[in-house]
Amino acid sequence: MENVFIETYGCQMNFADSEVVAAILTGAGYAIAEGVDEADFVLINTCAIRDNAEQRVRHRVRELRALQGRNRGVRIGVLGCMAERLQCRLMAEEDNVSFVCGPDAYRRLPDLMKEVRSQETGGKELSAVELSATETYADIEPVRLAVGGVSAYISIMRGCQNYCAYCVVPYTRGRERSRDPETVVREARNLFERGYREVTLLGQNVNSYRADAVGFPELMERVAEIDPRLRVRFATSHPKDLSDRLLEVMAAHGNICRCIHLPVQSGSNRMLKLMNRRYTVEWYLDRVEAIRRAMPDCSITTDVIAGFSTETLEDHQATLDLFRKVRYDYAYMFKYSLREGTYAWKHLADDIAEEEKTRRLNEIIALQGQIALENNRKEVGRVYEVLVEGESHRSKERFYGRNSQNKVLVFDRGDARVGTYRRVKVKDCTAATLLGELTQ
Ligand code: SAM
Ligand code: SF4
Repeated sequence: MENVFIETYGCQMNFADSEVVAAILTGAGYAIAEGVDEADFVLINTCAIRDNAEQRVRHRVRELRALQGRNRGVRIGVLGCMAERLQCRLMAEEDNVSFVCGPDAYRRLPDLMKEVRSQETGGKELSAVELSATETYADIEPVRLAVGGVSAYISIMRGCQNYCAYCVVPYTRGRERSRDPETVVREARNLFERGYREVTLLGQNVNSYRADAVGFPELMERVAEIDPRLRVRFATSHPKDLSDRLLEVMAAHGNICRCIHLPVQSGSNRMLKLMNRRYTVEWYLDRVEAIRRAMPDCSITTDVIAGFSTETLEDHQATLDLFRKVRYDYAYMFKYSLREGTYAWKHLADDIAEEEKTRRLNEIIALQGQIALENNRKEVGRVYEVLVEGESHRSKERFYGRNSQNKVLVFDRGDARVGTYRRVKVKDCTAATLLGELTQ
């Protein structure tokens, strides 16, 4: 039996995909290794969203040469978005990579790996990169790789066809398709029965989920009704499709978490149009208001890009103004990175100097840091129900968990147990974490 170590980079979707890969490979007779040193194959599941994500992977691939020097039998395969984007080019540029496999071709992995071993390839490049209009891996029960056994991802759809001008995802993950709802509910129920207490439903734009006349609000309702002790989260919501019906369903179920990730990308209408986001700042703010009306305690988080094509100081100011208005609880903040093949690559100039992108990004980061700290200070004195997830990274004497709003709370472990709900009173905070103590 050969051992496979899977290393994952990028978004939650990639972590979910690695669990599908683990299921396919264990089904084909491979064992999952705990680390690279026990591995016969190292599979790297990759992200192509920004150039720095790709550089990180290339660095890691080169680092693995040392391992291959110690153990000549080890083979490296690159999976995911970078494999799809670069295909055989990647093997030409990184010659210690034996094969590439794109996100829709994971069922072919056992064959690819067998071929690598059969020595029959004679220098033939091994790749499986066909995109599919139908593949959802719905019948595959993922092998959970994340530690803890409390929280799990469930992929409910794949691909994206929104074609935001800057984004490579439609090219690396193919057309949007939704997974059969029965299989989603079954997977969530199985997880609950195995002791999991939180599931996150994943898709690039979950609001456009539709299968067998079931839309996203109905799917989420079905999952939430499995058991009130099962928390339900989801990501990501595209603002253009965030419906009042979804907010109604959320408000009606206490176990659907009070947190919406609503990527804005820019606070300028001119930028949003150029980005092909298909909403305006006014529409976005209306959605924020609708969230706050339906669930005043709901946290809102976002993604933003600094320095997209032709962004002026005025556009940038508009982003800062929007951040001041919405007062996000958390934001993922990025510098614009030009991606080959996208609309922006074909038609728009990448004309903001790198130092200027960095300056604008740092300005957004500083503002957001201040807002997050101010938001967190208001939490001091409040009591939250926290799902205990594990030991704090800093101290074995402390546990960490999250409240419904997805904020991390750290507290002395006392008699708490992982996988249970406990009430925690907030005593102090940083911009990123709430510090608390167990209470009744
Ligand atoms: N589907 C999600 C949505 O539309 O909100 C986002 C998916 S993408 C994996 C995550 C984030 O990466 C995006 O929201 C965007 O902020 C960022 N991103 C995508 N392409 C980028 C690029 N070329 N440069 C910088 N950031 C980018
Ligand atoms: Fe990319 Fe836009 Fe699709 Fe999100 S919605 S994955 S940003 S193309």
